[in-house]
Amino acid sequence: IFISFEGPDGAGKTTAIKRIMPQLQKMTDKEVVLSREPGGSPISEKIRKIILDIHDEEMDPRTEALLYAASRRQHLVDVILPTLNEGKVMLSDRFVDSSIAYQGGGREIGTKEVANINNFAIEGHLPDLTIYFDVTPGVGLARIKKDHEGEMDRLEKAAISFHNRVYDSYAEIVKQNPNRIKTVNAEQSPDKVAADALNLITTRFPK
Ligand code: C5P
Ligand code: MG
Repeated sequence: IFISFEGPDGAGKTTAIKRIMPQLQKMTDKEVVLSREPGGSPISEKIRKIILDIHDEEMDPRTEALLYAASRRQHLVDVILPTLNEGKVMLSDRFVDSSIAYQGGGREIGTKEVANINNFAIEGHLPDLTIYFDVTPGVGLARIKKDHEGEMDRLEKAAISFHNRVYDSYAEIVKQNPNRIKTVNAEQSPDKVAADALNLITTRFPK
């Protein structure tokens, strides 16, 4: 079973997954494996650094999109597919929808273009279930500023118009994939968000 977690910056995905993972592990005999994107395997983490550790230079949006797709490809081959082949439960903090929303919508490359290069990278391996953490950019960015304003990465620091486009793209992706993607109201308390997300998972996969 392959489950991805998606949402804008400050949605609380990582916090919720940390709470969900042990509870999920208690409910199933299968091993539950957690990973994240960009990153998740040694080569993919190196690519993550290339993308995020940029300070003075400008990275071209298509370069960025290709690097995310490359990172995802390696993560898929090194971690996701072996985990699924062993019959385990794979949880990924972000996957392909992030690229469509951030590079396709946020960076305005176009969602179809970005979906195309990612189809090349993932060869049809989509999650069985995607939990979407719905938080409006105002609320998400306020959380990030409160928690780690000094260490915001260059993408978190992008203009509000960028974050609004990401949010609108996510809304469109959710609308187009009603079977795969289920939404949690991520403006609720951390406990409630985690509980709602866990509930969506156990409803879809009772065992
Ligand atoms: O989820 P996490 O905060 O670790 O993501 C790291 C950064 O990469 C975030 O600022 C996120 O907005 C950005 N990102 C992106 N495009 C992706 C995936 C993540 O711009 N496809
Ligand atoms: Mg972040």
